[in-house]
Amino acid sequence: MPVRVLIPTPLRPYVGENAAVEVAAGTVGEALRELTGRFPELRRHLFAEDGRLRSFVAVYVGDEDIRSLRGEATPLSDGTELSIVPSIAGGTAPAARPAGLSRKEILRYSRHLILPEVGVEGQTKLRASSVLVVGTGGLGAPLGLYLAAAGVGRIGLVDFDTVEFSNLQRQVAFGTSDVGRPKLEAARERLEDINPDITIETHETRLHSGNAFDLLSRYDVIVDGTDNFPTRYLVNDACALLGKPNVYGSIFRFEGQASVFWAGRGPCYRCLYPEPPPPGLVPSCAEGGVLGVLPGIVGSIQAAEAIKILLGRGNLLVGRLLLFDALEMRFRELKLRRDPRCPLCGDNPTIRELVDYEEFCGLGRGEAAGPEITARELKERLDAGAPLTLVDVRTPQEWEICRLEGARLIPVSELPARMAELDSTKEIVAYCKVGLRSAQAAAVLRAAGFNARNLQGGLEATLFPP
Ligand SMILES: [Zn+2]
Repeated sequence: MPVRVLIPTPLRPYVGENAAVEVAAGTVGEALRELTGRFPELRRHLFAEDGRLRSFVAVYVGDEDIRSLRGEATPLSDGTELSIVPSIAGGTAPAARPAGLSRKEILRYSRHLILPEVGVEGQTKLRASSVLVVGTGGLGAPLGLYLAAAGVGRIGLVDFDTVEFSNLQRQVAFGTSDVGRPKLEAARERLEDINPDITIETHETRLHSGNAFDLLSRYDVIVDGTDNFPTRYLVNDACALLGKPNVYGSIFRFEGQASVFWAGRGPCYRCLYPEPPPPGLVPSCAEGGVLGVLPGIVGSIQAAEAIKILLGRGNLLVGRLLLFDALEMRFRELKLRRDPRCPLCGDNPTIRELVDYEEFCGLGRGEAAGPEITARELKERLDAGAPLTLVDVRTPQEWEICRLEGARLIPVSELPARMAELDSTKEIVAYCKVGLRSAQAAAVLRAAGFNARNLQGGLEATLFPP
């Protein structure tokens, strides 16, 4: 019966560069004999002198190793896929000296140059290309490091933060000695140390509607490494209007997402989510936490996609949403389709220019924020013995780490059901970590007739008062 044998890259030269070969066989042994009969050069790579399969070659039927089945006697059914999986390592093939690259570049990029998919042509393309990395945080770290190491000729970095102690758990481009320094300064130093032959351009600014077109239009590929809603919509809209590829990544706790949004070739972020969730509904990583290695994985996926776009190689994540779950250690993939009704890239688009994305995402100051109390004012009121009810709306896990003295815990998700526990004659101050979830909670309480205020800036403001 017909069986497909998937051939790994190192063995393809022996089977006419085919990625898969069809054979007719009833067992694994028959399939391999038929294969090596047709491609005799392959034989010595798969079998030792004594005719046994070499120990560094694993053979899989579907996703099962034949060693856990019946070995070469494992029967095959119609349409089964047989995979040959050799052990692979970096390799040590010597690089020839091609024209166009300096001797130093040939040494530096030798592992790229021997890849047929990159070669001198690809490496020269990378040198001539540019990528803008928005944000130099958790996702920005592997992005900057790998893009610089790969030899992308011009890398732009956008950020305006300084390195904080709590960044070091995941932002591996920075070291302890960088704490307190501007991120751009520290990142530039690190990337220039990795690769002094490329140009690092730093843009110390917040990306906004007023500067986005100017900044983005100077680069071939845009990578969003910020993971907040206003920037995500801004980058999406600006890229679509400019026709630039937007390499998207997002992280939360143990889960990540990645895709490539490229108007004209596939859907955009608004095809998936036309509008952002209300502020406070989706907690940020600062509030929800994130496994430190997660941005390393997602950012590396974004770096790989950016490099593939520049090389013009491989299948991109255009029209595909990659989901990663580190706890389950599983990747899944969903299809994304362009929405003909998308306000940005649909058939009758209504968005033709950039808007105020802070406001669009409901983060504007003023009415939406509701009445607030500052950390200083709260302390004065409590010191004076004011009869306040302090409500902590975070999760029980966060409550265990730290809390305000005298507070009671009612997680925001339980608030509607537990409001009756609160004394409606007393003034209530709701707080969370940074003041977003509690702003929602205070609004919910006010709508129910309570006199409730939000602690501005949350617990962080009580630790580090402005
Ligand atoms: Zn769209």
